[in-house]
Amino acid sequence: MNEVFTSIAKKSDEHEFYTPVPDGYKPGKTKYVVVFGTVMSGLGKGIFSSALAKLMQDGGLVVAPVKFDGYLNVDAGTLNPYRHGEVFVLDDGTESDMDLGTYERFLDCPLSKENYLTGGKLFSMILNRERKGKYLGRDVQFIPHVTGEIKRFMRELAMLRNADLVFIEVGGTAGDIENAYFIEAMRELAYEEGPGNVCNVALTYLLEPQFLGEQKSKAAQLGIKALLGMGIQPHIIACRSTNPATEKVREKISVFSNVPMERVVGVHDMDSVYLIPDLLEQAGLHRRVAEFLGFTVKDNPIARAQWHEFMASLLHPKKKITIGMTGKYTGLRDSYASILKSLEHAGVASGCSVNIKWIETTAIKDDQAAAEALKDVDGIIVPGGFGKRGSEGKIACIQYAREHNIPYLGLCFGFQMAVLEYARHVCGISKAGSTELDTDCEPVIDILPEQKKIEGLGGNMRLGGRDVEIKSGTKAHAIYGASHVRERFRHRYEVNPDYIAQLEKAGMVFSGKHPEHPIMQILELPKHPFFVGVQFHPEFTSRPLRPNPLYKAFVAAASSPDRRA
Ligand code: GLN
Repeated sequence: MNEVFTSIAKKSDEHEFYTPVPDGYKPGKTKYVVVFGTVMSGLGKGIFSSALAKLMQDGGLVVAPVKFDGYLNVDAGTLNPYRHGEVFVLDDGTESDMDLGTYERFLDCPLSKENYLTGGKLFSMILNRERKGKYLGRDVQFIPHVTGEIKRFMRELAMLRNADLVFIEVGGTAGDIENAYFIEAMRELAYEEGPGNVCNVALTYLLEPQFLGEQKSKAAQLGIKALLGMGIQPHIIACRSTNPATEKVREKISVFSNVPMERVVGVHDMDSVYLIPDLLEQAGLHRRVAEFLGFTVKDNPIARAQWHEFMASLLHPKKKITIGMTGKYTGLRDSYASILKSLEHAGVASGCSVNIKWIETTAIKDDQAAAEALKDVDGIIVPGGFGKRGSEGKIACIQYAREHNIPYLGLCFGFQMAVLEYARHVCGISKAGSTELDTDCEPVIDILPEQKKIEGLGGNMRLGGRDVEIKSGTKAHAIYGASHVRERFRHRYEVNPDYIAQLEKAGMVFSGKHPEHPIMQILELPKHPFFVGVQFHPEFTSRPLRPNPLYKAFVAAASSPDRRA
């Protein structure tokens, strides 16, 4: 135990320290990499951190990522995806920032609430503790209490995962008010854990104005100065830029920041984010970090080869398909990040690249308009959504896809809309609707609090991983090759059990159900080449080297030569 640690670990209220340390915690056992942003946001800090964490993981280390978001929302559930990107749902039901999706995809490991901390969650934890009198009569202060709780969170994660390395991504950039207390906590963490146990990585940005035609380091210098001013000495500096960082500019940054040249690395724009691990590997970045922290990272030729094979197929597709995607936020790709990634993974598995045609459904009023929108697509997805806008247009597109044998994948809201389309046009329930959209309808899709109560959810959103029982002999069974799977949900409404028999009688097959309750989770139409709807979000469990089976089957159907014949 280092000296600093012994002194701070005092438990009385008679001193200025407040560093709650979980029982059994040994400083130095788990090391920390902390990634800070400078100059501006939007540099792909999450992608950079994930790629570096992956290299460390491939090198044999147990890695646990954690993302800190400074905003005061308790989680991402109430954030508008149009402004903030998609809400990524974890298996335990945590509604998190889309960066957690990047970590899950790169590291191929499920994360949980312990991997995500927002300012809102932090403060609500603190206020709860305060109400319970846990601060021993002290005035609760940003330092040491807020910073102390942040350190506790990090150390609890280290112990929970038995991690060699906790990878901390500090959201925002140095200089923001929102993350200042968090950066301060990281300064304290480095001091307490002792030299060589915390590696600070600063991500920065090189300006390259066209009128100058050269890279300039001034903004980067100022950003790093802001970090230094907060007591954070970076050990590694990663320079984001359009073109590869020049030697000259790296030298300049090295001079101004006390970081040796070999630890100032360039990370320029690449054709694909999946190329970043290779770029970092070539720069030897993971080795520098490991060296600094006293680890050795092993070579892992198998992992590299698998990754390269994936990359080769991604960058050199044999064919191209177009998938139509309906949606409200058609202007912002980030709000559908996981779906786009899942299509990419599935595309690699089928040897094709997937082009997206965005379909704004508010203007689609009839069959003709749907035909026009879908005339050049190989498949169509109706993704998750909330609210009425564009829903009738979605139903028109689904009807067209069903009647014209166009592969269809309905995700959550897209599952519900497929049920309504079938109820109206095949079962003849002309007023079939969802009570989410219309109170004056036949409630084929409805909110069923009694069912939620069985699952202990009350009237809340059904969130997170749940088991799905799959009927044998169905397409879903063939696709998954299993009778039980676990997928992630995020919905409030569902198929009203009163209508199930009628829908089934008319030919709709509910091939995936809740193991005990009448909650319909997968639907399919046996006579259609590929018409599948799922109440869950298979995009949250798709990984580059392990595409989700449903996406894989959908893309395979959309790219099948038979379909085009
Ligand atoms: N709005 C629908 C519900 O709450 C669908 C949700 C979704 O697509 N994620 O059930």
